[in-house]
Amino acid sequence: MDIRVQKTFEALFALEDIREMLRRSLPGTGPADMKSFKEQIRQTRSILDDLEAGSGNPQITKIGGTLGIRSREEEYVNIQPIQAAGRLTPEARKALIAYGDGYSTCDSCRKPFRLDKISKPPIADFHQELADFLNMDTVRVVPGARRGFQAVTSSLVKPGDQVIVSSLAHYTEFLAVEAAGGIVKEVPLDENNIITADGTAEKIESVISETGRTPALIMIDHFDYQFANEHDVEGIGKVARQYDIPFLCNGAYTVGVMPVDGKKIGADFIVGSGHKSMASPAPSGVLATTDEWADIVFRTTQMKGDLTNRKFGVKEVEMLGCTLMGSTLMAMIASFPAVKERTQNWNVEVKKSNFLIDRLLEIEGSAVLSEYPRKHALSKVDTTGSFDVVADHHKRRGFFFSDELSRKGIVGEFAGATRKWKLSTYGLSWEKVNYLADSLQEIAETHELKVNRADR
Ligand SMILES: *Cc1c(COP(=O)(O)O)cnc(C)c1O
Repeated sequence: MDIRVQKTFEALFALEDIREMLRRSLPGTGPADMKSFKEQIRQTRSILDDLEAGSGNPQITKIGGTLGIRSREEEYVNIQPIQAAGRLTPEARKALIAYGDGYSTCDSCRKPFRLDKISKPPIADFHQELADFLNMDTVRVVPGARRGFQAVTSSLVKPGDQVIVSSLAHYTEFLAVEAAGGIVKEVPLDENNIITADGTAEKIESVISETGRTPALIMIDHFDYQFANEHDVEGIGKVARQYDIPFLCNGAYTVGVMPVDGKKIGADFIVGSGHKSMASPAPSGVLATTDEWADIVFRTTQMKGDLTNRKFGVKEVEMLGCTLMGSTLMAMIASFPAVKERTQNWNVEVKKSNFLIDRLLEIEGSAVLSEYPRKHALSKVDTTGSFDVVADHHKRRGFFFSDELSRKGIVGEFAGATRKWKLSTYGLSWEKVNYLADSLQEIAETHELKVNRADR
């Protein structure tokens, strides 16, 4: 590991040990053992000296005896699509440190004792801001987009019900339907790998003629995870209203990176993923809905104990009461101002994406499988005619490509893949995007692939 990265982690850990001394010293007013406190500070200073000079040797390699230090984001340009927009902001990392203890959100929990009602820290306000941000009426935070799907299917889908999904639906959408006893019915892709309003309407018609009943739910991805193509969610919203079927718009790849307007889409539910697209720790996500559906999906408990007669009033069944209780939510809140702001710069992220893809296409034999020009930072590319040709007679096979990339400090492509693979430029500076493009072209040329550089 780069010694400055190593020493940064060591300094953070050393400060945590000082923090522990302060905790232990209670009920006193200062460190109980002044000598070891001073010694710890002296050690921290010497770590900082090493950090400044870029010198010294690694002192700590494991956390808790087993965990290595993860320095991927400090040491590499990471193009892994699922990790790009979930990278934490510095504010989120600070919140993780400050609120890491278990039920840290609950210090000032007062009646009616529900997470989304807590005003200190401002969790209730955050819920309102998040609803405004998505232009929806009500939100709850959930442990991942998948738990948002599940709350909806569990409320709306009965055993045997049909649910309309995309042919590019994420596996968690299938599982959420399955858990409720429903059956998925996939809308086919059009010739451009897009889910259209017409295609959705046709599928609804075929379900109706087959079963005599309208589907219980439509669940369609705003941008899918395979191509990151944009699907006609507004058109589908209209179709959903015509047939009077509730519509869940899956924003796992959009909420938190680009503007998402739930009312404009005409969605009954918007689901987002905190750890995928909102610079938040896992597991986190958001489920937003309208006043029409809030009482159903966020219904409160009706159960009464047969011996004790106990009832738990405002606790919401699908949320199992409270959801993100601690640093996960606090980090999500800490990132939110930056997340809101960055959605306004989505066009720049799309520019970077197209810039990179254009440079990749200059490598003869390369193609892009996603819609093009790109409308998203994630793309699926096909290098069967370029890097895979090299892999064919390379002794490391497909791994030559990941070897060369990681030698250049680039990680996150699927190791060994040289045919169809995905990458994301999300959040990379222009300098990094340029470096990435240059690196791909250099690797190509090293292996005698032709690069048709455009004049620039
Ligand atoms: C990643 C992803 C999910 C799952 O999100 P989680 O927050 O991890 O549950 C769902 N749908 C799509 C389209 C995704 O890309």
